Amino acid sequence: MSFQIAIDGPAGAGKSTIAKAVSKKLGYIYVDTGAMYRAMALYLLRQHVDVSDSSAISAAAGNADITISYVDGAQQVMLNGENVTGLLRTEEVGNMASVSSANPDVRAKLVELQQALAARENVVMDGRDIGTCVLPKADVKVYLTASTQCRAKRRYDELCAKGESCDLDEIEADIRDRDERDMTREVSPLRQAEDAVLVDSSDMSIEEVVAEIISLAQKG
Ligand code: C5P
Repeated sequence: MSFQIAIDGPAGAGKSTIAKAVSKKLGYIYVDTGAMYRAMALYLLRQHVDVSDSSAISAAAGNADITISYVDGAQQVMLNGENVTGLLRTEEVGNMASVSSANPDVRAKLVELQQALAARENVVMDGRDIGTCVLPKADVKVYLTASTQCRAKRRYDELCAKGESCDLDEIEADIRDRDERDMTREVSPLRQAEDAVLVDSSDMSIEEVVAEIISLAQKG
């Protein structure tokens, strides 16, 4: 049986940074499920699909072939044969992903891919519904969160570091909207699994959070 660590939480809680560091320490693969929803969103944006038309989203989703591979341990996302990894972390794609991920056909397709990956390898997988839906029997489940202000500031710093112009208030408003959509959607809303450990990283360093999760894995 593979060993599974599930990390869920709201936007900007530091899930990917932490999950990457934990996977490296343990020699597991890191599965960034948000990147899969973002690749699907990129496809829908490119096809000019109307986000309010769920049957159009379902139909288009059927034509998006999303696969994952690893180069030097880093996850690469392929969309219909094109490596789109570098195109996914924009606010436009993130906002589209948060809307289109509420579609049950989009979720069914990507959850199947995620479960297949976790069945054959030891994984650290992050997302919104990993502990509640994708890997309900995960060995370790963490719900990683931080205050909204703190999450907005982290995303702001991340975008600034990449040289993108951005506005802190706008980012905070986007984060609030995204959390609201992710937590209130009908299919697999973001919530803490009953058996997940809550970690609030507002006043913790990356190293402290990583150490806490490694210690849970050693007990797990
Ligand atoms: O984590 P990230 O910001 O990359 O995710 C983008 C969007 O994809 C989220 O706002 C959420 O709506 C969706 N998502 C999801 N389920 C996951 C991972 C991401 O619904 N497991």
